[in-house]
Amino acid sequence: MRLKFWIILIEGALLLIAVAGIVAAVNIWQDSTEQSKGGCQQTLVIGKSVEGISIEACQLNGSNPEAENTLLVIGTIHGDEPDGKQVIDEVAATGAPANTNIWLIRDGNPDGANLVTRRNANGVDINRNFPIKWVASDPTARTYSGPSPASEPETLALMNAVETIKPTRIVVFHQPYAQIDCPPERPTTISDRLSQLTGYKSECIPGGKSGSPTNSYTGTFTIWVNSTFPETTAVTFELGLTTMQAKFETIAKALKVLAADPSS
Ligand SMILES: [Zn+2]
Repeated sequence: MRLKFWIILIEGALLLIAVAGIVAAVNIWQDSTEQSKGGCQQTLVIGKSVEGISIEACQLNGSNPEAENTLLVIGTIHGDEPDGKQVIDEVAATGAPANTNIWLIRDGNPDGANLVTRRNANGVDINRNFPIKWVASDPTARTYSGPSPASEPETLALMNAVETIKPTRIVVFHQPYAQIDCPPERPTTISDRLSQLTGYKSECIPGGKSGSPTNSYTGTFTIWVNSTFPETTAVTFELGLTTMQAKFETIAKALKVLAADPSS
């Protein structure tokens, strides 16, 4: 009788150990599938820089091309504003949520990044070179608009990306104003949503800083997109001079929530 009791007790203990082992194995497996969701499902070379560096767009793993919205996120256009690339790395670390289609352009101006300068290797400010409300400017100015509209390969690469990917929403990162700009020609719905999710204020960048996008900006990416593609809203997200890691994670999560939001 006593022997039977001990056998049952030992059998019970072995069963518990086996169950605990299975639970642990399933957890490890889930972690590894979560991690494997990061990276690119598809990579497009959208163009090359003046110095011949490929500019690429990455469709995030797990993206669904049939999703209601396609979100394109651009890490940087100005070579001396690198922090948006950390947002991209954070977004790319894990996969796309169910039923979203997310594309990432980590660096729209790789020559500028190498030279640590706002402009490209030709000394042109890409964000004044788009073929919309383009105006000639002083070649020595930090916002030199180039010899003609869309003269620069980086401008053409970003135009190609929008025309090929056909995003419904675009978020492009800049520095250092720490605010989400109002999208030119559009209501502030997306800016307000991102503000709610990240804590950055949703507010038009005043003309005094470098020209409000709704009046005195010329040849910018967001004006070009919103004036050219009625189904697309492009918005500028200005990070601050410096950003804490926790904020990068918050912004990355917010972008995934935005990608999953239904049309409004
Ligand atoms: Zn900028």
